[in-house]
Formats: sequence, structure tokens, C-alpha cells
Amino acid sequence: MPQIPDLTEILATLGLVGQVLFWVTGAYFVAFWFSIIVWTFRDIRARSRDLFTQALGTLLVLPPPPLNLGGLILYFILRPRETLAEMYERSLEEEALLQGIEDVDVCPACKQLIEPDYVICPNCYTQLKRKCPECGHLMDLAWNVCAYCGSQAAQQPLPTSRPREVTLEEDREAQ
Ligand SMILES: [Zn+2]
Ligand SMILES: [Zn+2]
Repeated sequence: MPQIPDLTEILATLGLVGQVLFWVTGAYFVAFWFSIIVWTFRDIRARSRDLFTQALGTLLVLPPPPLNLGGLILYFILRPRETLAEMYERSLEEEALLQGIEDVDVCPACKQLIEPDYVICPNCYTQLKRKCPECGHLMDLAWNVCAYCGSQAAQQPLPTSRPREVTLEEDREAQ
């Protein structure tokens, strides 16, 4: 009876199919296993510079499937929350924020916002800067020497316009 195939032939075919399925599944598992290890290794390297942490993170997913799934869950729980790039970005943002705060000038006495070229606080009349009697540039009150012209005339803690008034009065007296 040539229409009905031999039982041994069927069994052989089934065995062959089973073998192929076995190898395909096996290859899939190995690829799955390997890619989880590679992914974890890359992920932990992006999150930590510490070699011990990197080794520990990778070791968690090193056991063969399905054991590595438990390790993977553990890894997700224990891994550093931020990547190094995210951490760097956040530190830059914080720095920029601090810079922004420092850039805002406030009156040391009343904390009102002032412009950097104010001589006197318009709110509480605290003297903030003074003008160099030589070149007229604004000088910090703490300066003993004008940073713009090198004049040491400002060493006496004189109010802004006093030297000019004095010279004007002297001029009038002289006339
Ligand atoms: Zn003020
Ligand atoms: Zn000056």
C-alpha cells in the first residue's frame, strides 16, 4: 500500500521536526540570555562608573533562563535611578539655576532688586557703589583702587560726588 506512509517514516519525520524545533528554541533561548546580559551590562555602565557595581549588576542576570529573569527583576529594583548622562544634565541645570540666582542683584540692606549700575538703592538709600573721582566709572565700595583707571584717590571712604563738589567750591573760592 503505497498511499499510507510507513509508521517509522512518520516517526522519523516527527523526530526531525522535533529536533529542528529543539534547536530553534535552544538558539532563541541562548540569544535571549545573551542579549539580556549585554543589555544589563550596557545599562549598568550607563548608570555607574564603579567597576564593582558594574560586575554585580551583570552577575545578577548571568544565570541561564529562566533564572536570569529573577536577576533582571532584582536588577531593575536595585539599579541606580539615574543614568550618568541624566545626572550630568541635572548638575548642569542646577548650576545654571544657581548662576541665575547669583546674577540677580539685590540690595544688601533691604533685599530689593537693583540694577548692577545703581549707585544708591532707590528703596532704602543704602549706598551700593561709588563713582571714581578720576574717571567716573562705578567702583565697588570695597575697592581701594579704581579698577578702570588705577586711581588711588578713592582710598578715603568719600561719598560719590563729594570730591567734585569740593573742587567746585575751591574753584569758586579761587575766583
Ligand atoms: Zn535697599
Ligand atoms: Zn577710575
